[in-house]
Amino acid sequence: MRQAGVNIGITAYDPLMEDDILPLLHSFFPDGEAQSDLDIRVTEENGTVRAVTSFGSAVKNEIVPFKPEEGTDEGVIRRELRKEVARVVYLQISCLTGKILPWGMLTGVRPTKLVLERLENGLGMHASYLMDRFCVTKEKAALAVRVAHKEYTLINDLDYKHGFSLYVGIPFCASICNYCTFGSHPLHIFGHYVEPYLDALEKEIRETARFMKKRLDCIYIGGGTPTILSPDQIKRLISLIRENFDTDTAKEFSFEAGRPDSITKEKLKAMREGGVTRISINPQSMVERTLRTIGRAHTPAQITEAFMAARECGFDNINADLIAGLSGETPEDFRYTLSQIEKLSPESLTVHTLAHKRAARLTTSPEMYEGLEAHGVPEMVGMGADWAKEHGMEPYYLYRQKNMTESLENIGYSIPGKECLYNILIMEEKQTILALGAGASSKFVRDCRERFERVENVKSVKDYVERIDDMIERKRSYIAENNIEV
Ligand code: SF4
Repeated sequence: MRQAGVNIGITAYDPLMEDDILPLLHSFFPDGEAQSDLDIRVTEENGTVRAVTSFGSAVKNEIVPFKPEEGTDEGVIRRELRKEVARVVYLQISCLTGKILPWGMLTGVRPTKLVLERLENGLGMHASYLMDRFCVTKEKAALAVRVAHKEYTLINDLDYKHGFSLYVGIPFCASICNYCTFGSHPLHIFGHYVEPYLDALEKEIRETARFMKKRLDCIYIGGGTPTILSPDQIKRLISLIRENFDTDTAKEFSFEAGRPDSITKEKLKAMREGGVTRISINPQSMVERTLRTIGRAHTPAQITEAFMAARECGFDNINADLIAGLSGETPEDFRYTLSQIEKLSPESLTVHTLAHKRAARLTTSPEMYEGLEAHGVPEMVGMGADWAKEHGMEPYYLYRQKNMTESLENIGYSIPGKECLYNILIMEEKQTILALGAGASSKFVRDCRERFERVENVKSVKDYVERIDDMIERKRSYIAENNIEV
């Protein structure tokens, strides 16, 4: 592995161990800021595993304390040994660098999944399990346990095994934010594709609805920015969904109204009349300077106006997304944003931590953001948690992404009864998600929930429009050939 300023060598007798260790290294050295070379060697001789990590002149040499019980399955031994090696390497690097990662050696997207599985299997001692086995800090272990308990309560009543959820993507945006890699298409270039896109989407909705026999639990219209659609296009989309799927069983219908400058009263009315139950208006920040820097062409005042218009149209479940760590922001800016959000009284708040994605403008054009690194991001995340608590909200879902600032997390808070079930179902991989539109990735449950498989649509709207029959056929043949229960 080679990063700016650091050479890292990994040698392991099991190549899969390298796959476990690499994400850990990315967490420890997100910018390759280490000054000296790091070398990790994992060897095995006569049943003894040894992990030697050297960092500059300092060397740690550990024997991995792993003794499987007699008769344990080979696959289980290998999996457990890999985990143990990663744990030892984590502890060694932590000791050599003096760094502690909040989520320890957990580098995956779903840290709460481990706890949720334990809850479902009637096991206990969840926090100490995370701390002892995965070196998670006490604070994050407690958070994961709290979220998992909430998820458990919320989805247990749903009988999710007999249902599925529907996602429809509208991958167009007014402009592209500097941290975004969702593959959304800027309207000033791709605006002429919106109508052909809706035609293709209509075909995909009609055809795929025929496969689905299970009960529809949640509907989620995401993006991009779905509110770039005109009121008539919104009506058309909602009618299509209602005509083709049995939506009477749906517990919720969410619509991302992300950019306030794309929201009008007519659009809100179209959503409301179409039965949308929850919308998300996403300020990200209420600091005007920040909004300009990150490339969002709206003002804080437009966010307030959009909230007021949504309330006038009768919406009583509005989420607000914020991002901790935006270019140039300080804890003071975040505090100011929270003070402004207070006036909007959202029913839920999602606090994201900025993830540094390779293809985002923030990474590809660093000269544009020189000197604009955010400071005090963990403090901002803590402020979000305090604010949510003061406003009667509880954390109810949590996920992580690659290269998150300070290895933190994204957390959804909600007042009781206003949570978005879809967020839990998709994050915890609990049920099949039929995902339609360009860039949408359907997830099908296989083998009694032991495994999920994705069937992806092409990302470009041009390809999606031209190859819509292929997108439908991909799903149809996957379901038929694998005998998937949908
Ligand atoms: S609004 Fe969302 S999808 Fe659109 S560019 Fe910004 S982050 Fe990406």
